[in-house]
Amino acid sequence: MTDLELAMSRTWAEINLDELAHNIKTLRNMLNPHAKFCGVVKANAYGHGMIAAARKLQECGADYLAVAAVTEGAELRQNGITLPVLCLGQADTNLAPLMCEHNITQAVGDVPNAKALSDYAQSVGKKIRIHVKIDTGMSRTGFYWPENDESLKDSTAREILEVCRMPGLEAEGLFTHFAVADDDPDFTHLQLRKLLDARARLEALGQAFRLVHASASSGVLYYPEAHLDMARFGLSLYGYASPDVGNEGSTAGLHPVMTVKSRITAVRKIPAGETVSYGRLYTLKRDSVIAVMPVGYADGYPRVLTNQSYVKIHGVMCPTVGRVCMDMTMADVTDIPGVRAGDVATIYDYELMPQAAQKAGTIIDEIVCRVMPRIKRVYINDGKMTLKI
Ligand SMILES: *Cc1c(COP(=O)(O)O)cnc(C)c1O
Repeated sequence: MTDLELAMSRTWAEINLDELAHNIKTLRNMLNPHAKFCGVVKANAYGHGMIAAARKLQECGADYLAVAAVTEGAELRQNGITLPVLCLGQADTNLAPLMCEHNITQAVGDVPNAKALSDYAQSVGKKIRIHVKIDTGMSRTGFYWPENDESLKDSTAREILEVCRMPGLEAEGLFTHFAVADDDPDFTHLQLRKLLDARARLEALGQAFRLVHASASSGVLYYPEAHLDMARFGLSLYGYASPDVGNEGSTAGLHPVMTVKSRITAVRKIPAGETVSYGRLYTLKRDSVIAVMPVGYADGYPRVLTNQSYVKIHGVMCPTVGRVCMDMTMADVTDIPGVRAGDVATIYDYELMPQAAQKAGTIIDEIVCRVMPRIKRVYINDGKMTLKI
């Protein structure tokens, strides 16, 4: 058995890098021509494989990459990625050596954190490049920026100025993050005004930034005025225009990158009246044919989907029946003749993924991030299947 056959012997995720390239091009065309393109590859590129996604982004001309953890940035460097890398999350100051060693741009949201990074960088004769984070309404990280309080704006601007002038830091960016870019224009515009207000005040104090940015995927799609100097594309890169199912509007010409498939392990005839799986939550109403798929909640298939999800077998939608187990899930294939062990069931595709998110009461982001390492990633690149790129 080849390694590729082995990877495709149980449950695997096909990651179509040609579709990723298509999405990069499509999103680039939506962006103001002068704005830079930042590809967000945190969380293993939303489950798609961080290194493969980063290589494709680099090959397709992205300007920047973003991660959530400094260690993710270090991993990119260790795999030969040379694009600038921004760590979006404020980081433990003990990670300053990694930032210096791997040339990682770091988000900074308060003075003590900035001071510790600067002190370290200065002690080794380097500078850490930073993007100053402004909290315009997420109440997560960043310098809090009020709507009207002039004296607080003044003192915050002076704090930021102090950070930008620290000898171990090089201030490159100023940014914020939207809380409701997919459904509340009033609040989103307020957030944007706050960021531009912070920029203007800092400029008046003599501090300009090369990269001012605010938008993630939804921000770019719905607010052209918020493209600014750079946009940070996450979920849209992977083919979904909106995380909230039922709120997606147009797909914006994006193509989903991940398809999860499973090789059916057994096909069984079971008489009417029997129950399926733990808890006996499903009773067969007729003599049935049940396909057993080697995928369960330990693979990231949500247990809450019990009795309410579908898979595709021979291209036909089949309901799953009974409790989702740790390692197996059953589907009713009574109406599809000729299903055999070894046939392929599609677990997630462009239709099944949003459906699963909706039924599980969550967003597409969570479903893709949950696809566990035990599901092997198989890449499609230039039309060819490979295990690595
Ligand atoms: C995750 C993240 C993004 C990407 O968001 P999407 O909605 O997936 O495009 C952008 N910016 C920040 C700060 C993030 O944390």
